[in-house]
Amino acid sequence: MIVGFGEQRAGGGDWPRPVVPRIGARLSYGLHRVLAANLLYRRLAAWLERGRPAYRWFTRVERVAKEQLYGCRMCGQCALPDTGYTCPMTCPKQLRNGPCGGVAADGRCEVHPDLVCVWVTAIERAQGAGHGADLDLLQRPVDHREWGRSSWVNYWQGRDDGLGVAYGEDDPRPLLRRELGLSPR
Ligand code: SF4
Repeated sequence: MIVGFGEQRAGGGDWPRPVVPRIGARLSYGLHRVLAANLLYRRLAAWLERGRPAYRWFTRVERVAKEQLYGCRMCGQCALPDTGYTCPMTCPKQLRNGPCGGVAADGRCEVHPDLVCVWVTAIERAQGAGHGADLDLLQRPVDHREWGRSSWVNYWQGRDDGLGVAYGEDDPRPLLRRELGLSPR
């Protein structure tokens, strides 16, 4: 049986398990506007990075908040805004650019067949909030040196610039959502 919204939670040991966020996508996009990078946040980020305890506490708050809401694993380079606010690091294979070939026809995860594939959740949330095109972005590989660091600070410091890049306009590669078969071709 596939577990529904709110029943898949973060945790379950050290290995990632697909998580359905506890907070809706539209609200998440709205919150992002509040946290959008600006000069004030950049200065705050720079100040936080100058003081070890302040940075540690700030990172702890981020960890608790995002872990509860999205199952965040603190990769430090947050892809949430491009994935319908569904954490790709909760994919057991930690794929950042769409599902593996093992996802079942009904959307179940290959590794945890009782759970919905992270990428099915992602595309449904993104499309439902009018952000389906975000899934077309190509996510760069994870920089493993950033694990455990604050993704908010990294974002405000401009380190996430280019985290998700668009294909060239004349690039014929198929769109991710078409590959999933979840939207008209
Ligand atoms: S910081 Fe990384 S692990 Fe945390 S929610 Fe964003 S993508 Fe997921």
